[in-house]
Amino acid sequence: MFDLTGKVALVTGGNGGIGLGMAQGLAKAGARVIVAARNAQKSAAAVESLKALGSDSFALALDVTDEASVQQAFDEVVARCGRLDILVNNAGTTVRKPVDQLALAEWHQVMDTNLTSAFLCSRAAHPHLKAAGGGKIINIGSMMSIFGAPYAPAYAASKAGIVQLTKSTALSWAADHIQVNAILPGWFETELTDGARNQIPGLYERVKARAAAGRWGQPSDIAGTAVFLASPASDYVTGTAIPVDGGFSISG
Ligand code: NDP
Repeated sequence: MFDLTGKVALVTGGNGGIGLGMAQGLAKAGARVIVAARNAQKSAAAVESLKALGSDSFALALDVTDEASVQQAFDEVVARCGRLDILVNNAGTTVRKPVDQLALAEWHQVMDTNLTSAFLCSRAAHPHLKAAGGGKIINIGSMMSIFGAPYAPAYAASKAGIVQLTKSTALSWAADHIQVNAILPGWFETELTDGARNQIPGLYERVKARAAAGRWGQPSDIAGTAVFLASPASDYVTGTAIPVDGGFSISG
């Protein structure tokens, strides 16, 4: 039910953090995982870790904000693998500034990387998923898909958009046997949160205290949910958003 043998998966931003955690989970389940990101050195290291898990993995240069780069990446996947079954829209960034200090260029940078990217990659993946007889798209949202974030308004807006894009895409492509779901991670220890962890006094302890699990998330904590949403086990699950937050969002 959770076997991904023979499946081809592309993970945007799969060269580190949460993306690599999911890529490793998919590889362990048997998928051939393509790491698609900008930093070639980090991608090469990620590919080595996936090969060690038995995946015939490779890296692709991809800038998710660039429509031509997206098209080229998906063309190359299908040229090299002959198919695509799973897309994980994970690449993301943030700018930590309140609305009154945020430049328009910063707003666009966050929206393009976090939200428009998922639209572009899903649209490019669609004909290939359809040709494979169906497939899976996993979009990465956040707790900020639900909560407001006064210190990261563009990030919160982009992640709220991910949830609505997930529902709309799920409805559009259900007849093509494509399930589209989102994961909403809580606070994970990655490069993305390094700034907040280092700059916001007490944040590290506050997160530990509020999360029912009593700790921050690690990239490996997200792997099981990604495998579930990528596998036949979730064939009757679509358009939903699953929190993976150690119980942070259920706590007051
Ligand atoms: P990291 O900063 O560790 O990883 C971000 C990834 O995105 C990198 O692999 C980076 O690769 C890639 N990326 C960024 N911009 C682009 C781009 N233009 N084109 C292609 N790839 C890009 O962050 P996380 O692992 O923490 O974040 C992964 C996802 O999880 C994001 O969507 C984030 O919003 C989400 N998330 C994270 C949480 C956390 O607590 N860490 C909480 C909730 C959600 P490269 O620079 O090589 O391109």
